[in-house]
Amino acid sequence: MNDPLNRNVVSAQSIPEVFGSMVFNDHVMRERLPKDTYKALKKTMELGKSLDRTIANVVANAMKDWAVEKGATHFTHWFQPMTGITAEKHDSFISPEGDTAVIMEFSGKELVKGEPDASSFPSGGLRATFEARGYTAWDPSAYAFIKDHTLCIPTVFCSYSGEALDKKTPLLRSMEVINKQALRILRLFGNTGTTRVNTTVGPEQEYFLVDDKLYRQREDLILCGRTLFGAKPPKGQELEDHYFGVIKPRVMDYMADLDQELWKLGIFAKTEHNEVAPAQHELAPIFNNTNLATDHNQLTMEIMKKVARRHGLACLLHEKPFEGINGSGKHNNWSISTNTGVNLLEPGDSPRENAQFLLFLTAVIKAVDEYQDLLRVSVASAGNDHRLGANEAPPAIVSIFLGDDLTEILDAIESGSPYSKRDAEELKVGVHILPRFPKDTTDRNRTSPFAFTGNKFEFRMLGSDLSIAGPNIILNTIVAEELSQFADVLEKAADFNTELQELIRKTISEHKRIIFNGNNYSEEWVQEAERRGLLNLKTTADALPSFIAPKNLELFTKHKIFTTTELHSRYEILMEVYCKKLHIEALTMVDMARKQILPAIAKYSSLLTKSALEKKQLTCDNACAYEVEIVKELSTDATGLLDSVRKMETDLERAENESDITARAMFYKDTVLSGMAAVRSYADHAETITAKEYWPFPNYTDLLYSL
Ligand code: ADP
Ligand code: MG
Repeated sequence: MNDPLNRNVVSAQSIPEVFGSMVFNDHVMRERLPKDTYKALKKTMELGKSLDRTIANVVANAMKDWAVEKGATHFTHWFQPMTGITAEKHDSFISPEGDTAVIMEFSGKELVKGEPDASSFPSGGLRATFEARGYTAWDPSAYAFIKDHTLCIPTVFCSYSGEALDKKTPLLRSMEVINKQALRILRLFGNTGTTRVNTTVGPEQEYFLVDDKLYRQREDLILCGRTLFGAKPPKGQELEDHYFGVIKPRVMDYMADLDQELWKLGIFAKTEHNEVAPAQHELAPIFNNTNLATDHNQLTMEIMKKVARRHGLACLLHEKPFEGINGSGKHNNWSISTNTGVNLLEPGDSPRENAQFLLFLTAVIKAVDEYQDLLRVSVASAGNDHRLGANEAPPAIVSIFLGDDLTEILDAIESGSPYSKRDAEELKVGVHILPRFPKDTTDRNRTSPFAFTGNKFEFRMLGSDLSIAGPNIILNTIVAEELSQFADVLEKAADFNTELQELIRKTISEHKRIIFNGNNYSEEWVQEAERRGLLNLKTTADALPSFIAPKNLELFTKHKIFTTTELHSRYEILMEVYCKKLHIEALTMVDMARKQILPAIAKYSSLLTKSALEKKQLTCDNACAYEVEIVKELSTDATGLLDSVRKMETDLERAENESDITARAMFYKDTVLSGMAAVRSYADHAETITAKEYWPFPNYTDLLYSL
C-alpha cells in the first residue's frame, strides 16, 4: 500500500498474518525446532528449570535463522534494570570465517547468558565496583522478538552473587509464590485438574501527543518530560469536549501506525480513544499473563515514542506534563486465572464456585488492608506525586470499591443476618448460590484507587510512566501471603464449610474498613479514612520508608521475593531516583529562568521603556501609562524570579551536601519543591503580561492545541 509517511501499513485482511510476525512464539518454535528439542524446551519453560546446553544450541540456531530471514543482523539480551526502562546492548551475529569472510552465528551460550558491562546501572550499593559486572539470563517464559533489526532475548539481570538487579526477577518470583499458594486453595475445593495459576494484567495506558517542533523548543520537556513553566491557557479541559471526542486525522494516522507496530510484536493493542485533557489519549491492550503484560507494556511505551517521532509528534508519558490539566495514569487491571482458563475472581454459578470466589475476594480485601503502605509505595514517584490526591486521580489513601450489591452480600455474611434480596434466609457460604451482582455500569466509581469491576480489580494509582512490574510484584505477593494464611487454617479444618464460612466472616469483619464505595475525591473521605485508621501517605518521601518496615521485610523474605539486602538496596535506589528527578527539574528551572526567561523579560521591558521615552515627547497625559505599568510589573517579577532562583541554587547545594538519603528526600519535598513553585509563579505571571513574540518558548495554548 502506498503511504506518504512510509509506514508499513498493511491491509485489514492481513492483520492476522502480521500479528506476532516478529515474535519467536510457540507456533514458530513448533514449526522450526526438532520435535525433541521443542518438547524439552517446553518442559523447561513450564518447570522454570535451566536449559541444557545442547538444546540451547539448537534453539539458538533456529532463532538466528528465523531472525536473519526477517532482516535481523544483531541480537541483544533485553532486560529491565531498576531505571524503570528497558536496557539492551547489541552484538552482531557475525563470526569470522578465515580472514575475509563472515558467517552469521548465534550459540546456545550466547542465548542463555550474557554479560553486559553493567556497572552503571543503579544497584543501591549491591554491586561493589570491583565486581561490577552483572549477568543476564534468558527468561524462557517470555518469547524472543525482533525490534529494529535486532533479535531481543528477554532476560533477567542479576549480580554474580545472585542478587536481583532488575524488576523482572522479583516479578517472576512473585508469580511462583501466588501460583503455589493459590494451588493450595484450589486443592481444598477439590480441584485437582489445575496445574498452574497465573495472574493476568491489562494495563490501560494514557499519554499526551504534542507537535515535535514545539516540543524541541522546550528545555523542560526535553530534559524532564514535563513543563516546569507555563501560564494557564484560556481554555483547558473545562468544556470536557475532548473525552471520547472525534480523533483528529494526524492522531488517527499515528494510532493506526502504532497498532500495527504493536501487533507485529504480538501485543494485543485493542482500544484507543481521546482522554479528558486536550491532546491526551489512551491505549488499552487485551489482558495477558502478568509477565508478558509487563514486557508488552514496556515495549508499548517505547514504541509509542518512536512512532510519534515518525509522525512529527512527541509522545509524553510523564504523569503530569501540564499544570492545571489532568495528568496521565495507567490502570492496572489485575486478576487470577488457572491454566484451564478459569478466572478465580469471577463469581461463577454454583455454590462451590461462589464460595471459592468469596475466599479469593476476601484474601484480596485483607491483603489491601494490611499492605496499604506497600501498594502506595509501589506507585510512588516524584511525577506521580502531582496526581495522587489532586482531584483528577485517586487520592494517596488506598481503599477498595466493591459496589453496593457485593458490599451488601458481604455485610449479610458478616452479620449472619438475612440478605435483603433473599427471603429472610441466611447466606450459607458453599451451600447457597450467591445472588447475581451484575457489573454495575451506572454508578461505576471512577474515583476509587482499587475497584472491583465484576471479575477483576482495577488498581488505578499507577502513573503513566511507571513500569507495571512493581505494583504487580506487590499485588501477587500480598495476596499470596493471605492465601497461605487461609490455606494454613483450612487445611486443618475438621468441617471445611463451617470453617470456611467463619474464616470469610471473620476476615470481612476485621478488614471491612478498607471498603469505601463513595466519592474518593471528597474532603469528607479524607477525614473518614483518618477515623478508620487508614494511611494517607501524601508524597513519595512520606511513603517510601514503609517499604523497609519490619512487617514488610518479613513478608518479602518469607516468600523469597527480596532478600534483606535486595530490599534495602531497592529502597536506596527509589529514594535516590526521587531526589535526582527533583534535582534535575530544579536545575532545569534555574537554567531556563536565567538564560531564557529573565533575558526575555529584559528585552521586552526595554522595548516598552524605549516606547515610553519616545512618547514622553508628546505632551498628552497618561501617554505612557501602559508601558510604565507593565515595566513596573515586569521588574517586580524579574526581581522575584532572580531572588527565588538564587535561593534555589543555595538550596540545591545544601541538598547535595546532605548525606543521609532519607533526610535528603525530605529536604527536596519540603524545601526544593516549594522553591520551584515560587520560581514558577514569578515566571508564569510575567508570561501573562509579555508580548507573545517575546516569550522564549511555546506556551500552553501552543502545546495543547498543536494538532
Ligand atoms: P474500562 O476500565 O475502560 O471500562 P474494561 O473494563 O473493558 O475497560 O477493561 C479494561 C482492561 O481490563 C482491558 O485492558 C482488559 O483487557 C482488562 N481485563 C479484562 N479482563 C481482565 C482479567 N481477567 N484480568 C486482567 N485484565 C483484564
Ligand atoms: Mg479503566
